[in-house]
Amino acid sequence: MSERECIVVTGASRGIGAAIALALAQQGRHVACISRSGALPASAGAAADVIEHWIPAKADVTDPAAFAAALRKLADDGWIIKGLVNNAGVHIDASSAEMSLEQWHQVMDTNATSVMTACQAVYPHLVAASGGMIVNIGSFFDKLGVKRNLAYCASKAAVGAITRCLAVEWAAKGIRVMDIAPGYIVTDLNADSMTEGGPLRAYLDKRIPGRRPGSAADVGALVASMFTPAGSFLTGETIYVDGGQAVAH
Ligand code: NDP
Repeated sequence: MSERECIVVTGASRGIGAAIALALAQQGRHVACISRSGALPASAGAAADVIEHWIPAKADVTDPAAFAAALRKLADDGWIIKGLVNNAGVHIDASSAEMSLEQWHQVMDTNATSVMTACQAVYPHLVAASGGMIVNIGSFFDKLGVKRNLAYCASKAAVGAITRCLAVEWAAKGIRVMDIAPGYIVTDLNADSMTEGGPLRAYLDKRIPGRRPGSAADVGALVASMFTPAGSFLTGETIYVDGGQAVAH
C-alpha cells in the first residue's frame, strides 16, 4: 500500500459510513470521507493517528458532476484512488399506494443511481491505479417484500444488479466489485426504536437468530476486510451481514 493511496467512502460522516472509515483507518489506510456536510466521521474516541488518516471531502452523491469533481480534487492533491465504498443512502417509509414520484426518485437517486454514477466516476482513477476495489452497501431488504419499503427494496435490489454487472465487465481491468448487505443495524437513524427497550428491539431479538441487531462496527469490519488479502478473490457477490435474519424461517 503506497503512502499516497486512499479509499473513498461516501456517507462517512456518521452511522455505518463512519464505522467503515474508522475500520479502514485502523488498518492504516487513508480514507476520503465524503458527505453533503463534509464532516469528518462522528467516531467518538478515535485515536489521533486514526483521525489523521481521514481526508474531509464534500459532495452530494446525487450530483454526478460534483462527485466527479471531488474525485478529481483528490487526484490533483496527489492522492491515488484505490477504492470506493458507496455507502450513502436514505430510507423513506411510505405506503406503496400513496408514495409520491418525488419520494421514489429521492430514494432511487441516492441509493441506486448514485452508485452507478459514482462507479463510473471512479473507473478512470482505478484503471490509472492498475485496478482496485468497489464496495456497494446494499441491504438484506434486497430480496424481501417489505411493507412501506417499495422504493428502498427496489433500490437495494438494483445495488446487487449493478455490482454483478460491473464485476463482470470491469474484471479485466483488475477492478473487483462487491455488495455488502447489512441487516438491522443500530445507527442514529433508528437508535430510538432499536436500542434496549425500544419498540423494535424485542421483536428483533426474537427474529434475528443472532439475538441482537448489528452494530455499525460489525459492518465496518467486514467492509474493511474487502481491502485486505481476504477480499482478493471476491467479486460480484452479495454478502449478508445480518446475524442470520435473511435465511431464518
Ligand atoms: P445514516 O442516515 O446514519 O447516514 C447516512 C450517511 O449518508 C450520512 O453520512 C449522510 O451525511 C450521508 N448522505 C446521505 N445522503 C447523501 C447524499 N445525497 N450525498 C452524500 N452523502 C449523503 O445511515 P446509515 O449509516 O444507517 O446507513 C448507511 C447505508 O447503510 C445506507 O446505504 C443504508 O441504506 C444502508 N443500510 C442501513 C441499515 C441500517 O439498519 N441502518 C440496514 C441496511 C442497509 P450528510 O447528511 O452529511 O450528507
